[in-house]
Amino acid sequence: TEFVSANDLSSLMDVSVNDVIKVCMQLGMFVSINQRLDAEAITVIADEFGYNVEFITSEDEQALEDTIADDEADLIERAPIVTIMGHVDHGKTSLLDYIRNANVTAGEAGGITQHIGAYSVKTEGGRMVTFLDTPGHEAFTAMRARGAKVTDVVIIVVAADDSVMPQTKEAINHAQAAGSPIIIALNKIDKPGANPDKVREELAQMNILVEEWGGKYQSQEVSAKTGQGIPDLLEKVLLEAELLELKANPDRQAVGTVIEASLDKGRGYVATVLVQTGSLKIGDVVLAGAHYGRVKAMTDHRGKKMKEAGPSTPVQLLGLDGAPQAGDKFLVMESEREAREIASNRSQVQREQSLRTRKHITLDEIGRRL
Ligand code: GDP
Ligand code: MG
Repeated sequence: TEFVSANDLSSLMDVSVNDVIKVCMQLGMFVSINQRLDAEAITVIADEFGYNVEFITSEDEQALEDTIADDEADLIERAPIVTIMGHVDHGKTSLLDYIRNANVTAGEAGGITQHIGAYSVKTEGGRMVTFLDTPGHEAFTAMRARGAKVTDVVIIVVAADDSVMPQTKEAINHAQAAGSPIIIALNKIDKPGANPDKVREELAQMNILVEEWGGKYQSQEVSAKTGQGIPDLLEKVLLEAELLELKANPDRQAVGTVIEASLDKGRGYVATVLVQTGSLKIGDVVLAGAHYGRVKAMTDHRGKKMKEAGPSTPVQLLGLDGAPQAGDKFLVMESEREAREIASNRSQVQREQSLRTRKHITLDEIGRRL
């Protein structure tokens, strides 16, 4: 069964449902007999009765795992997905903007750039690189907390006329915790006060030794103002990507991650998603977190219509019945009915969970006032 109620759980453990509810109350959870329980609640309750719970992966997680089982012969190289992190004002946005605007092909010129949270560019050598345009490690961490692993390479920006700052360190810590390779961009090299060696020294002091100094970290002096060094930075990203041997199978139903989603007055729910494997097509039935729908239209970050999006391609899609959360997985399903069922079950669980949390807070509040 897809979901477990207090009643189901009691019969699984062969105890009375009243005992389960009693234990729930002792744990501060107020559940009714047929209320669906989330994974955490099930684990905690079962533990009280001396049971360990083994969760069998749900359908979408299974689909993601299936990507590993793709036939080697079906895999093709995919573009690296890059996140830029660093201290405020060190130039993350400027760098993202420069790269997006410099790598415009003739056909695209004139297109209005939309902010869609992710974009792909073609390098001078003709290869693709995808950037997540959700700067700041909050977005990165929030997605990781939801189990999404989207970034292949992290660029840490440090302004060469400044120093390694607290947020630089935090960003490095986050990238290391995620196991993502790091490339250092020493930005603002055009400024008269730039002293990249001072920054390299500070990085060395925290065990980030750059290649020029015999370490393992690639680094590149750049200017997001003049563009100096940016093609070299992209080449270094591709070099790092080659070591990772990033591959995916384009000939299967798409699986990926939601980058952001919102309600647009004119167009309905708009979601930016990143296809990680397979190809997403117009008309596909998509399940994304607690929402579903048929893909009505897809566009890239310049508003250009797309019919199909392969691995490592970010797209903005129309057709979902709500806004999934950043970091939610999405996948294409055969059956619209099944997608609708799973989505509605998930939204019900979300509603019940938020109700319970609210109740819980209310009781605490009363307790404090007493
Ligand atoms: P963020 O907070 O990391 O996104 O930093 P921004 O991209 O907003 O940049 C902060 C300030 O530094 C802005 O005034 C930019 O114009 C400036 N800036 C960013 N990169 C460079 C650069 O390479 N050279 C110079 N001279 N200024 C830069
Ligand atoms: Mg910024």
